[in-house]
Amino acid sequence: MTARIPRFDHREQYRLIRSEILAAIDQVLQSGQLILGPHVASFEQKITEFLGVPGFAVGVGNGTDAIAIALRALQIGAGHEVITVANTAVATISAIRMAGATPIFCEIDPDTLMMDPSDVEHRITSRTRAILPVHLYGNAVNLVAISEIARRHGLRIVEDCAQSLGTTLGGRQTGTWGDVGCFSFYPTKNLGAYGDGGLCFTQDPRLAMEIRRIRAYGCDSSGEAQRPGVNSRLDEMQAAILEVKLRHLPEGLRRRREIAALYQQHLSRIGCDLPLATPGALHSHHLFVVRSNHRDGLVAALAAAGIECGIHYRMPVHLMKAHRTEAFPAGSLPVTEAAATRVASLPCYPELTRQAVIEICEVVNEFGSHASHSEAEACGPTQGSIEC
Ligand SMILES: *Cc1c(COP(=O)(O)O)cnc(C)c1O
Repeated sequence: MTARIPRFDHREQYRLIRSEILAAIDQVLQSGQLILGPHVASFEQKITEFLGVPGFAVGVGNGTDAIAIALRALQIGAGHEVITVANTAVATISAIRMAGATPIFCEIDPDTLMMDPSDVEHRITSRTRAILPVHLYGNAVNLVAISEIARRHGLRIVEDCAQSLGTTLGGRQTGTWGDVGCFSFYPTKNLGAYGDGGLCFTQDPRLAMEIRRIRAYGCDSSGEAQRPGVNSRLDEMQAAILEVKLRHLPEGLRRRREIAALYQQHLSRIGCDLPLATPGALHSHHLFVVRSNHRDGLVAALAAAGIECGIHYRMPVHLMKAHRTEAFPAGSLPVTEAAATRVASLPCYPELTRQAVIEICEVVNEFGSHASHSEAEACGPTQGSIEC
């Protein structure tokens, strides 16, 4: 059974744009061309326009592939290190390992929860080839500082923009700062397909050509493989759907920001505290993250009220069974590990109503006032500062 207020639901938007979507799907089916045809090319063009700088967009199968293909196009693989964060979707790390490279983790900023530029530099070794900032939650990593470090050390930048389509930093879209910006169109993302999809954006024509080859078995237009590749294409049907939905993206982003402002206005400080936006960033609020010392209790209280939350992310990637290494034991990334125990994501998507947001705030505030009372009782006035 779905929650009364779910974390995400694509059906309300579908109801609103159904005729446009069905017309687009029908057009693809009537065209007789299902793979790498005019809809993919047209969508690539439209998203380049949206990103607002001249460049090349290349549609691929999903966001994970976008990152792995970007690294491969940059000739980053076995024996190379890529610096990223453990506070991310495991997909980021899967992608680095798919390319054959080794993920190296750095800390996050405790206020923004984004990659901490001041912790990047001392993690650079002779094997480091790239920095992979993750614009998590729809916030932006401080790319001014990261770009400066990359320039000094001759490193590439591959941006994980899976959650940040529409986020700007200093007025410039995320995904246009680094060598390659990698996007995901997983259904829940700011621009969601009805299935999987992803995209690489680059301003370098040679890199764009490499990415185009890698997505299609390494082949050029003659059909001869020029290099090893994979099969990772955005298909015509999803591209046609995404082109329709891209027209509605500005309105969706406007709603996300409106919803975030409502949350900020109605959440009391006792209920939770909020991570900050990076200075200069225009947050796209892919997720609305709150923090609480009683996170699991808060999530349970919301669930009891029929409100579904997410946790992004409960376990930092360096602690996951598949990705544990001696270099990053438990305790090695204290800021990241502490943050993971406190975060929860409240419902945040364009179709969420004002009424629902206010109702969610009431549950959070109510829970917060109970939690703070019981905390005061448990600790007593004198022990409070030690125990709490
Ligand atoms: C969703 C996501 C990905 C992966 O995208 P897929 O399309 O699911 O492969 C990568 N990184 C982050 C931060 C994500 O949120």
